[in-house]
Amino acid sequence: MSAAMQATPLKDVKPFKSGWKVHVKVLHSWKQYNPVHGDTLEMVLSDQDGCKIHASCKRTYMESKGRLLPVGAWRHIQNFTLSPSTGMYRATDHPFKMSIIQNTAITRSTLINEDMFLSLVDFQTVLGGSLKTCFLIDVIGQVMDLGDLETIQVSGKPRMKVEFTLRDINDARVPCCLWGKFAEILYEGCSKDEEGKPICLIRFAKIGRFRGEIQITNAFEASLLLINPDIAETAAFKQMFVEEVNPLAICEGRDATLDLEEVKTIQDKRDKWMLFPKRTIHGLLESTQVEKCLVECKVDSIDSDWGWYYFGCCTCNKKVVKVGTLVKTIHGKEVTTHLWWCEVCKENVSSVSPRFKLHLIVKDDTGETKLMLLDQIAKGMIVESAETLLNGSFDELEDPTDLPDAILAVIGKTFTFGISVEKEHVLYGSEIYKVGKIYRQSQVVFTESANGESSESDQDLALTSGENSVNLIDNEEHLGGVSTPSTTPSTKRKGGWSDAPPDFTSTSKNLRLKTIKVEK
Ligand SMILES: [Zn+2]
Repeated sequence: MSAAMQATPLKDVKPFKSGWKVHVKVLHSWKQYNPVHGDTLEMVLSDQDGCKIHASCKRTYMESKGRLLPVGAWRHIQNFTLSPSTGMYRATDHPFKMSIIQNTAITRSTLINEDMFLSLVDFQTVLGGSLKTCFLIDVIGQVMDLGDLETIQVSGKPRMKVEFTLRDINDARVPCCLWGKFAEILYEGCSKDEEGKPICLIRFAKIGRFRGEIQITNAFEASLLLINPDIAETAAFKQMFVEEVNPLAICEGRDATLDLEEVKTIQDKRDKWMLFPKRTIHGLLESTQVEKCLVECKVDSIDSDWGWYYFGCCTCNKKVVKVGTLVKTIHGKEVTTHLWWCEVCKENVSSVSPRFKLHLIVKDDTGETKLMLLDQIAKGMIVESAETLLNGSFDELEDPTDLPDAILAVIGKTFTFGISVEKEHVLYGSEIYKVGKIYRQSQVVFTESANGESSESDQDLALTSGENSVNLIDNEEHLGGVSTPSTTPSTKRKGGWSDAPPDFTSTSKNLRLKTIKVEK
């Protein structure tokens, strides 16, 4: 075999011999446990034509040969065996799989080519159900409807899981579920993204089925997840997003943008919360089974005993406890690092961020109850992020009754909450319910579509800003020790904030009251 041997395109390699030479880029690699061979190094290789092949390197050759195949590198690979590509998780559609053997020679290539050789599949095709599910695919989309990061017991071991929807550039949407480290990476990516809706590229993803519906998941460790990858597709998405938001610029502010998004969510049949029954608070409290339901009610007050934020570990998202502050002097300057103990990571961590944890007392005509909202959900009702409200502070809460205006602003507003009734409620009488979804009152959730929404939005916004000023005044009165119990009557009005007109009236009252005080 001469070194000058010509490279063969991957599409032409066949199992009848091992003396092939190919010129390939390592696109992806992962370790896999194989009951026969122990740990193996699995790879996806691509040639310059974008033809891909799955390659495997046994533990025996991992040190001598696998080490020479880092992700992103172009290599000449000479001498390897080929076997049929089989199974339900095929990383490529190549009919054969490459095995690195004892006399495989790996040499460097001078080629630099940053192409990722994506094989993107649009969601219409995925949902069409005609694709062979044994072949893993590449998908890119914007994350919508992010669920909670849940811990599920799988064969007695805890595994992280997160469900969400991806929408592609044509607005086709496909339900997704990621497990393990992929779930954590996605969840963290969403919390770091400005809009909470990053562009997500899942390479070597599995088309699965869950309760009869097509769902995209990770193929164990074989998948690759990239958040906001620096590629043309991401730029195209961002551009689309800008175009989507701009027509609403006239409304200014996040409320209008969120509303539009929520309307879309409501129109989306796959929003699973829409399938659950609507209950009154009385009905919720009387529920004798573990279930999810929707409850429309008004925020009566914030239960400040619980505080309103916590610091979460940026690695695992779990709550951390402050253990100390490290002050180092570097080049004559004092640098302060806060240290936190993470019970899950079992170590002191310094990378933490504040997140909402809100406890609300809500009421309707039938009763009252307590709701708990974690960060992702609370973000849907509070205009500012926890980080902004804390203004960079890493202190734990001193005075729980000192609530920011942005949080107080939700008092008196009506929402429809998606609520989980758990075993602890049914059997052990727990009184706090966790919220998994929020709809604003301005959307009629069940009976009608959002007709006339846009024509009314300007007026709605005017009323909303009116409310904001009321809240500022209310807040001053709270601080002064005078509480102003909410006496706003509940009214129903299609397509707008149901409580807007009464609040607007009370604005003028409060303003007058204020004026009188000043005159004294
Ligand atoms: Zn942690």
